[in-house]
Amino acid sequence: MLDHLSYKTPTPKVIHGAKEDWELVIGLEVHAQVASKAKLFSGASTEFGSEPNSNVAFVDAAMPGMLPVINEFCVAQAVRTGLGLKAAINLTSAFDRKNYFYPDLPQGYQISQLYHPIVGEGEVIVDMGPGIARRVRIERIHLEQDAGKSIHDLDPTMSFVDLNRTGVALMEIVSRPDIRGPEEAAAYVAKLRQIMRYLGTCDGNMQNGNLRADVNVSVCRPGDYEKYQATGDHSVLGTRCEIKNMNSLRFIQAAIEYEARRQIAIVEDGGKVVQETRLYDPDKGETRSMRSKEEAHDYRYFPCPDLLPLEIEQEWVDDIAATMPELPDEKKARFVEGFGVTEYDADVLTAEAENAAFFEEVAKGRDGKQAANWVINELFGRLNKEGLTVDTTPVSAAQLGGMLDLIASGEITTKMAKDLFELLWTTEKGGNPAEVAQKHGMKQVTDTGAIEKALDDLIAANPDQVEKAKVNAKLAGWFTGQVLKATGGKANPAVVNQMVAKKLGLG
Ligand code: ADP
Ligand code: MG
Repeated sequence: MLDHLSYKTPTPKVIHGAKEDWELVIGLEVHAQVASKAKLFSGASTEFGSEPNSNVAFVDAAMPGMLPVINEFCVAQAVRTGLGLKAAINLTSAFDRKNYFYPDLPQGYQISQLYHPIVGEGEVIVDMGPGIARRVRIERIHLEQDAGKSIHDLDPTMSFVDLNRTGVALMEIVSRPDIRGPEEAAAYVAKLRQIMRYLGTCDGNMQNGNLRADVNVSVCRPGDYEKYQATGDHSVLGTRCEIKNMNSLRFIQAAIEYEARRQIAIVEDGGKVVQETRLYDPDKGETRSMRSKEEAHDYRYFPCPDLLPLEIEQEWVDDIAATMPELPDEKKARFVEGFGVTEYDADVLTAEAENAAFFEEVAKGRDGKQAANWVINELFGRLNKEGLTVDTTPVSAAQLGGMLDLIASGEITTKMAKDLFELLWTTEKGGNPAEVAQKHGMKQVTDTGAIEKALDDLIAANPDQVEKAKVNAKLAGWFTGQVLKATGGKANPAVVNQMVAKKLGLG
């Protein structure tokens, strides 16, 4: 297994201000919607895109006297996510009320875990290129309810409220400020998303808002971050601003970039960055103030009197641990070691668990590098182009494997294999590769006699070319090309090459 901790740490992004150089410090609070059919404290459906206000239980609408009942499955999903982030699981956690008024929050408070989260410290290894990775520490994951949705753009004079989302379970995954640049921040969210998709705990659909991030950004002078690392003292870092509710990797990067430059300009101008919450405007490409710390809500947190502290048992956690799938880092390491694929290819192959499983079926007992080539370049490339996935692929893993066997045994050339792939994809869907190859007359000429005959004829008919090739060996390729042509592309190029070199007395 590759040891991720022996990876080199990427260099932090440096921004050259008008006066000095600056580094970025970034910490993320990611809200991941728990993959669950029912909400955190009610049996109402979490189905996306339902008729507005159709997935609302009485407790979600905060009807008087209704009491929340914890959904055990959502708790299991949070534990599973924690285990996937190598985090400590807290056997006792508790829910608090975070009080604030908003039209889409009928209770007048959000039930969340401020003081006693269910998951403690963990980590995410964020790959930033072959052999380079950033270890980002996770501070905690807590369970909380989502709010509803206010809709302001349907009517010029009225606003609407949709409570379908109200009470849906969220995991808030809080990182330490260990991220050092915009690309790293995006890669961190992408890695979290990948891990949770492997685990089946969050579908990671950012467009639907099922995964969104509050991005905390500050700037410091080179060396300050190392001081923070050595002492754990936040105060050596700059004042941070929090950019709320980002649900696009591209916008996360753009917002960080903008925000860092904004802060640098303030500080270099002798000013002070004010700690505040900001919003990113993708049309203008800038962040703007939403509320400052002074105006910040006093949430008047207190333990939720409707819920007992959440006690889980180690045995239950162990049961969940026993069902954990192989995670991306382990899978990637195994692909590099076991199949000899490059780290870059292993990244592509393990991006989604389904893709990795497809590759493994093709590669098992075969040349792993060759399998990776075909899977990535031919299959994934084609799937991408046609908007398909490995679940809807016309060419199955078994078929692709069968094709590779025909190449390995010398029955078909790589060129023929490409034609065969095309046939299997289009007119010969579901066909057995060997049979389809035979039906279409694809057979590599291995009869060296036939190749030799074609070559002898060429040499006899082209004495000029022979002389040229003897002076410049590169020109011998002409003979190879002609022989391949004469044999209808059915001869093995390597065999022809060898024979040409021998006949012409080269090398
Ligand atoms: P608070 O207690 O005020 O909510 P936290 O320490 O919990 O603050 O941090 C909230 C988020 O802000 C975390 O994700 C953390 O990594 C990030 N963060 C803290 N300090 C900084 C900083 N100086 N620059 C950027 N991000 C920071
Ligand atoms: Mg906090």
